[in-house]
Amino acid sequence: MDMYERLMEQAKRIEPELIELRRDLHRHPELSFKESRTAAIAAERLKRLGMSVRTGVGGHGVIADLHGGSGGPTIAIRADMDALPILEETGLDFASETPGVMHACGHDVHTSVLLGAAKLIAERQADLHGTVRFIFQSAEEILAGAKAMIGQGVMDGVEEIYGLHNLPSIPAGTVGLKTGVLMGSIDRLEITIDGKGGHGGYPEACIDPIVAASAVVMALQTAVSRETPPTEGVVVSIGTIHAGTANNIIPDCVELTGTVRNLSAQWRERMPAILARIVEDTCRAYRCSGKVRYIEQVPPVLNDDTLTGFTAEVLDGLLGRHNRSEPVPMTYGEDFAEYLRFAKGCFFWLGSGPQADADRAAGLHSPRFNPDESCIAVGAAALAGIALKRLAIE
Ligand SMILES: [Zn+2]
Ligand SMILES: [Zn+2]
Repeated sequence: MDMYERLMEQAKRIEPELIELRRDLHRHPELSFKESRTAAIAAERLKRLGMSVRTGVGGHGVIADLHGGSGGPTIAIRADMDALPILEETGLDFASETPGVMHACGHDVHTSVLLGAAKLIAERQADLHGTVRFIFQSAEEILAGAKAMIGQGVMDGVEEIYGLHNLPSIPAGTVGLKTGVLMGSIDRLEITIDGKGGHGGYPEACIDPIVAASAVVMALQTAVSRETPPTEGVVVSIGTIHAGTANNIIPDCVELTGTVRNLSAQWRERMPAILARIVEDTCRAYRCSGKVRYIEQVPPVLNDDTLTGFTAEVLDGLLGRHNRSEPVPMTYGEDFAEYLRFAKGCFFWLGSGPQADADRAAGLHSPRFNPDESCIAVGAAALAGIALKRLAIE
């Protein structure tokens, strides 16, 4: 039996315990920066494995180092812990007991996966040549937890970092891996359009910011369709428009917010200037003044070539090449990207969907999201395999 077969077998053996843990976390979801119960469970389990644990790192973040039998590099593996403000509609017997809060992105799965990996790695501690740092992160959903943990030194001394996210559009038992951009950047757009309000019956006495805002929303789409190449993957979506108090009053001001996503770092850099020009000049055409605040939130998740090749080798060893697909880049975002500013790394998709396409699973952030729990043991074996292989003497 080779290392991979043994790992899968051991992961299978702890699977019932990991599923039970995941269901407990699922029952008790906690919003971003409120993950105290989840963090306490993670810390307790890591301590039980003999690790010294730091808690309260960047919110409720937990980190623990597992030092191997001899010296070598430090690599990190990260999971996120927070849930979403969604009312669960799965009808599961372990559904959320907190109304309006749900693990609809599977971070309960990720926490359980990483605790499983920690157990599998700790059993082979003496074989490690180097250190594995386990990172349990707060507040991924609001893209704040990674930055907060980095600010507390979580990446100090880390040479490489690995992580995963479950994905219900590919079957459990499979993985999706690609080098380069896996997920796009996320930026926030805030637009204020000022005009001059007055009576709706006398528009000529006013400067109507609603008409200007309507033109701005349409014009912004040309930033994507006319100014960036179709191959570069740019999205500009306006999500809120707020103005006005009554049907017969022209308001003074309109406020809009939106999200901008880029698969390419170069085009991301150009977006603030493009969007500001379109908004300001369109507003000027309507005698209004437009202001844009472009708030950078998270860069693209960019996988390192060498580490992706290495991760592919481990995943193929565990699951077979036929169970690894190469996904197209997605315009979801992930604050895992923040860690990649400080060390190279690799992030991959862990299939958590049904085997047949016909039973299409509810997607991430759906109130009916219900991942296939068999992905948990697979994820634990995968992360453990990466750490063990990386810190083995060859
Ligand atoms: Zn999410
Ligand atoms: Zn997520």
